Amino acid sequence: MSPWKCGAFLFSLAAVVVTGPACGGVEAATQGAKGGSEFHAAAPRPHTSAPTPPAAPSATAAEGPRPGETLEERATRLHRQAIIVDGHNDIPSIILASDFDLGTKSTRTHTDLARMKAGGITGEFFSIYVEGDLADKPTVRGGGALRRAIDLIDVTYRQVERHPADLMLATTAADIRRAKREGKIAVLMGIEGGHAIENSLNALRTLYRLGCRYMTLTHSNTNEWADSAGFNGPFVVKHHGLSPFGEEVVHEMQRIGMLVDISHVSDETFFSVMKVSRAPVIASHSSSRAVADHRRNMTDDMLRALAKNGGVAMVNFWSMFLSNEYGVAAKKWFEKNGKAFGELRARYRDDIVAFKEALEKLRAQGEPMPKVPFSVLIDHIDHMVKVAGVDHVGLGSDFDGVDDLPEGLSGIDGLPKITLELVKRGYKDEDILKILGGNFLRVLESAEAYSRSTATTLSGDGSTRRIGQ
Ligand SMILES: [Zn+2]
Repeated sequence: MSPWKCGAFLFSLAAVVVTGPACGGVEAATQGAKGGSEFHAAAPRPHTSAPTPPAAPSATAAEGPRPGETLEERATRLHRQAIIVDGHNDIPSIILASDFDLGTKSTRTHTDLARMKAGGITGEFFSIYVEGDLADKPTVRGGGALRRAIDLIDVTYRQVERHPADLMLATTAADIRRAKREGKIAVLMGIEGGHAIENSLNALRTLYRLGCRYMTLTHSNTNEWADSAGFNGPFVVKHHGLSPFGEEVVHEMQRIGMLVDISHVSDETFFSVMKVSRAPVIASHSSSRAVADHRRNMTDDMLRALAKNGGVAMVNFWSMFLSNEYGVAAKKWFEKNGKAFGELRARYRDDIVAFKEALEKLRAQGEPMPKVPFSVLIDHIDHMVKVAGVDHVGLGSDFDGVDDLPEGLSGIDGLPKITLELVKRGYKDEDILKILGGNFLRVLESAEAYSRSTATTLSGDGSTRRIGQ
């Protein structure tokens, strides 16, 4: 989600007043290791050989506190040891819109290479975010949903190719573990918005081949086979969950080893997914509705069902989803500034950074938004752990897709603060490692294993069904 997408203040807010914005096992059977292998054949290679760092300690076996260790020392040790995975980062949209390079230090984004390293991230999901209005055919913007996805995939590859000593493309859990061993950052890709496949299972498989390893079934728009939670305003209910084709999409994703992501879907769609799923699913960037009452967050019933499914809910860091007080203030702001907001959005449609700056100026003229304490983010984690269990919670920042983060967090370099807070709240070492990334790795490995168990080929055994023609 993003300010310019559905997010923060921005479009999300627009939605407030206007209307709700709207292989796995597969080749493994015949080729041995699947998934990453075919992908890496074409993946960029470093032109120079980087020195091999010493092997990282196991990120799964926690040792427990050491005698005499301070909380800060323990947090630092755990953070270094952990495989840390973030489920959602919208930096590709900024890279595409403004030709931003991750090698440039930036105070205008939440993400750059130096801060990724400072944050200790191991695996970052680059969001292949496809705006809801691109679901309209023909689009007014020249190029449809699938073209947008391909453009974002290309800029993600470009960043990996430009920074081969620091980044590597990753498509499997084994790739993420290898990145940790080699001292690199694993760049993964997840599609945001199921309309990206343009109702074609062929397109879905092709996006898998390009390296995408999850897809949110919807964005804020209900599409032709799944209902969305929207953002605000009236719900758009077309299918009461998944349509029969939507069920087929879920089955095909799981067959080929692409994670089904329920962030952004309606509650009915979520429970449809639970009913038909054959493998664990994820919520790549969703927080708790019991703590902050927003329809994009997950209810306790949803968290329990996700735990039963074996999946993982990755907490979203956006102030809007963390705090009721912030949500009320945002709504008020938009009621007053909605017209000016709409004008800025139209003027800077293709220049996200300029849009953000203009929006900041507009916001500076009004009442300041309430600051959300950093502890509230951890309160969400606490609640989700209490309800779903410590094996089913992870991190899904939504960096660079939102305009307001909790106090003391200005971007991806702030991740160690989460580890420290978990230590201070009394979490066991092994549980902290699970929340930081271990749980996600387990879910991805389960999805890979399910895919292998189908003993089918990626395309040859897949349906070529399409709808909407
Ligand atoms: Zn989102």
